[in-house]
Amino acid sequence: MRLTIMGSGTSFGVPVIGCSCSVCLSKDPRDHRTRVSSVFEVPGAATILVDTPPELRLQLIDAGISSVDAVLYTHDHADHVHGIDDLRAVSIRREEDLPVYGPADALERIQSRFPYIFDKDVKPPKGTSRPELVLHPVESRRPFTVAGVEVLPIEVSHGFGMVVYGYRVGDIAYLTDAKQIPEESLEALKGVRILVVNGLFERPHPTHLSIPEACELAQSIGAEKTFLTHLTHENSHQELARRLPRGVEPAYDGLIIEL
Ligand SMILES: [Zn+2]
Ligand SMILES: [Zn+2]
Ligand SMILES: [Zn+2]
Repeated sequence: MRLTIMGSGTSFGVPVIGCSCSVCLSKDPRDHRTRVSSVFEVPGAATILVDTPPELRLQLIDAGISSVDAVLYTHDHADHVHGIDDLRAVSIRREEDLPVYGPADALERIQSRFPYIFDKDVKPPKGTSRPELVLHPVESRRPFTVAGVEVLPIEVSHGFGMVVYGYRVGDIAYLTDAKQIPEESLEALKGVRILVVNGLFERPHPTHLSIPEACELAQSIGAEKTFLTHLTHENSHQELARRLPRGVEPAYDGLIIEL
């Protein structure tokens, strides 16, 4: 199985528009961070996309992915959703609508934000297209299958009562936009060998784990390897890689994790 990190950047992306800090000006391609998304690939079975950020089209082209069996939404913040229209290129090549999974409240908000996609009474004018999607609200810790591959949604908190789902496929877990991990969710993460988790700044943040908090979580989960994502322009890849504890590494756009 393989997980590709297609985007590893925080909501502003890196470089940040108008910023001339050393990370934003860096020539290291690992310091160019599009908004977060990833794709699970189980050879011969399923290709499962997590989130549809604004750079989705470029990410799918870079990763060489042209067909997707399902989309998993973590939550409905703009940096995770607003490339949804790029799913046209995926759904147009399918016979059936593309299944989309996520927390019920997030899917409801996505539905009301994009009526041209979800209102079945609105038909795209002849010769035009829209993403053809079918929404499936799922519950935390209730596994479901995509093309025979089991997916486990795991609830985490974004802070201020907002629910976000992480997803576990086999022994790989992908968590983003977490501020706290409930006890039952820690239980559901037991035995993961690869963990991807968000780490924002060195200092605390109201809605995201900080880098030290993410490292602490990595240690308590005890995966063989943990990758930090949702990274900002406050850390260059090189500098962060140098000082993270053993077993924890910064993710970067295009990183392929094989298990
Ligand atoms: Zn985010
Ligand atoms: Zn900057
Ligand atoms: Zn968010």
